[in-house]
This record gives sequence, C-alpha cells and structure tokens, in this order.
Amino acid sequence: KRNVLIIGAGGVAQVVAHKCAQHNDVLGNIHIASRTVDKCQQIVDSVREKGSLKTAGELQAHALDALDIEATKALIGKTQSQLVINVGSPFINMSVLQACIETGAAYLDTAIHEDPDKICETPPWYANYEWKRRELCEENKVTAILGVGFDPGVVNAYAALGMEHFDSVSDIDIIDINAGDHGHYFATNFDPEINFREFTGRVWSWQNRQWVQNKMFEVKRTDDLPVVGQRTSYMTGHDELHSLSKNLDVPNIRFWMGFGDHYINVFTVLNSLGLLSEQPVTTAEGLEVVPLKVVKAVLPDPASLAPNYTGKTCIGDILKGKKDGKDKEIFIYNVADHKEAYEEVGSQGISYTAGVPPVAAAILIAQGVWDVQKMVNVEELDCKPFINLLNEIGLPTRIKDEDGDRALSY
Ligand code: NDP
Repeated sequence: KRNVLIIGAGGVAQVVAHKCAQHNDVLGNIHIASRTVDKCQQIVDSVREKGSLKTAGELQAHALDALDIEATKALIGKTQSQLVINVGSPFINMSVLQACIETGAAYLDTAIHEDPDKICETPPWYANYEWKRRELCEENKVTAILGVGFDPGVVNAYAALGMEHFDSVSDIDIIDINAGDHGHYFATNFDPEINFREFTGRVWSWQNRQWVQNKMFEVKRTDDLPVVGQRTSYMTGHDELHSLSKNLDVPNIRFWMGFGDHYINVFTVLNSLGLLSEQPVTTAEGLEVVPLKVVKAVLPDPASLAPNYTGKTCIGDILKGKKDGKDKEIFIYNVADHKEAYEEVGSQGISYTAGVPPVAAAILIAQGVWDVQKMVNVEELDCKPFINLLNEIGLPTRIKDEDGDRALSY
C-alpha cells in the first residue's frame, strides 16, 4: 500500500479523491491539501457521503500553500505519503516537484508548469521547467510522471500505442470535443483565468518537424466522430505536442479543441473589448480593476456546472501513415458522459477524464509496474497496462480503423 497526498481541491481533485478512495486497498491513506482547508473538507465529506472508500482507511483534509516547499515536505512526512498527485493550479508544479525530490515521494501531475506572469508560455514547454529537474529525479530515484491527465496523458498513450499499427506515421491529430451542455448562456469548464490563457495568445503546432505559430481560431477542421457526430475543432497549442515531438518520430503533431460558434462569438466579443486582459484598468470613479477578474466574478463558478451538465465528451488521436506500403488511418478514443461522471463522483465529465488517469498511474506505481524511479512523460512508459486499467476504472478506450469500431484492450 502507498499513501497518497492529493494537492488541490478543484473539480479534478474531487475526481482523484473519489477514485483513490475506490482503490484504497492498493493506495492506502488519502490526504487532500490546498490553501483553503474547507474546500478539501468538502471533498472528504463527499467521498464519505457517496461511500467511495473501498476499505477502512484514513481520509483527511489539510491546509497547505504548496508554493512553500518546506511546508509541503513537512506534510508529505507527517502523512507518510509515498505518492503525491498534484492537481492544483499549474503555478505550483515546480515547488511540489521539488518537495517530492527532497522527500523521495513519487510525483504525478496533469499539466505543465506555468509562470503566473507569462500570458502565453512558448515551446519547448517541458524543457522550460520540469525537464530541468530530470537529472535530479534520476539521482534521487524519484518517480515523476508528467502530464498524466487525459490530454496530456491518455492521448500520449494513444499516440505511442497507435504507432504500433503502422510502419511509419506522418500525422498525429489529437482532437478534444466536449459535446456537453451546461445550460448557461456562457461558462468556462475550468477556472476562466487559466482557461482563457490557452486561447488569447498564439497557438503552436509541430509541423514538418518544427514549431509553427498561428492565431487562435485561425485554423479549423471538421470531423465526423463516433457518438458526438460532426464537430468543428480549432488548432490549439497543448503541452503534449512538445513531449510527443521529442519522444515519437512523427513529423506532424497537432492539437484541436472543439468550440461551438456561440462560444467563439462570446469569447471574441470579450477579447476584442479587452475584458480578458490581466492588465489593471482604472474606472472613472478611481477604482482599479483587472478586467479578467471581473469577467471571472460574473461567470458561473465552473464547479457549479456539474449537477446539470448533460452530454458526452469525445477525445482521441487520429493517426495517419503507411502500413505495408498502403495509406492507413486510425482513431483511438474515449467517450465519457457528464451525467454518469456526476452520479459517480460528483464532477462533470471533463474533470472526470482528467482525474481518473492520474489515479490509474498512481495504482500502477503502487503495483511496481510504473515505479520507474525517474522523470518521464506518459509515452515513454509501457502504456498497455495503463489502457487496460483505465478500461476497468471508468475510461474505456475504443479504436476505429479499416476493421470497424471496437473496444481496445491488451
Ligand atoms: P481548479 O482551478 O478548480 O483547482 C485548482 C486548485 O489548486 C484549487 O482547489 C486551489 O485551491 C489549488 N491551489 C492553487 N494554488 C495553490 C497553492 N499555492 N497551494 C495549494 N493548492 C493550491 O482546477 P481543476 O481542478 O479544474 O484542474 C486542476 C489541474 O488539472 C490544473 O492544473 C489543470 O490545468 C489540470 N487539468 C488537466 C487536464 C488534462 O486532461 N490533462 C484537464 C483539466 C485540467 P486553494 O485555492 O484552496 O489553494
């Protein structure tokens, strides 16, 4: 058994906590920490209410500012945690990672580190921050699995495993469609401050083995996808493009995020008016305000969307290449349901798809399968046990190719 410290108390942490509880026979005691202990306590209460704990075991909330490395080390020590699942804001990655390196705990996260002062991080993303600690992890025999949510995370596994179906792959297109409906005029699924940062700047893609820049919403595609049907998605920069471009021999790797016309219209108006700016403005009354903070304050709290969210998500990888001299294309994907996620763990589907994979990874570390004692991205690991475990614990994988559309397991 390995005890788990979950850092963060948002929608993803909620899923992580429930899933860890469902597997506490392998994972041991569970501790949840963020700056606001009440949020952690709410998660603890919800795990108890749903009866998610598989066997009797500790489940406790703690107050922690994870930017404070000494405090994080002390909490890892006090709770005797061997696994730290960091699902806090992306600003805390480097300090949590440092605390793990110094205590020997395994580190897992679901997004690249971000500097709060930079509006748009530029590639090479992992090399800007996390990979600078690679040698230290190796020296200290610390297992660090980076970006093990859905995207990045499961889609990296889909890319690596998909390659096995080809002699050579020319294109990997990762497509992320949320075909769900939250019933509000406009809302973001995650913290608007983080969410809009992804789209206000330039977008990056890996084409002909180099970084290419575009404007957001400049390049789009339309696909006829399983379950969610015909969907338009837009080229977006995303963490996994960087590690995949380094770890897989594929000349074109792109990421596409689905948006409806209504979302784009509202976003465009807000952005054009300057309402998504993080630069303070002064009103006629002399009040200094940050426009983005005001927008965040008037938008629905992303956590409040979960109870009424309906519909599906479809996220997967289209791979194109050659097999036996012929052109070939496959789609490896998962479909998740918002309502089912809410009923099981009290979160909407996007938090669910992000929160289940790090728990699968934690279980694989606890079982010794992924206890690699170095820093890796998902595609560097043996991804077959990961896909098999996800099939069992709520995120089934499917494949669509010339032989039809079917479940995928190994
Ligand atoms: P939220 O914004 O809802 O939650 C972030 C949490 O971080 C908050 O509960 C906050 O709690 C905590 N936090 C922030 N600063 C600190 C700090 N200094 N110390 C301790 N805790 C802190 O995020 P989500 O749950 O929606 O997402 C969590 C992570 O998952 C993000 O990094 C996001 O980018 C990533 N993600 C990854 C996906 C994937 O598929 N790979 C998909 C979706 C999200 P408090 O204020 O109490 O400190």
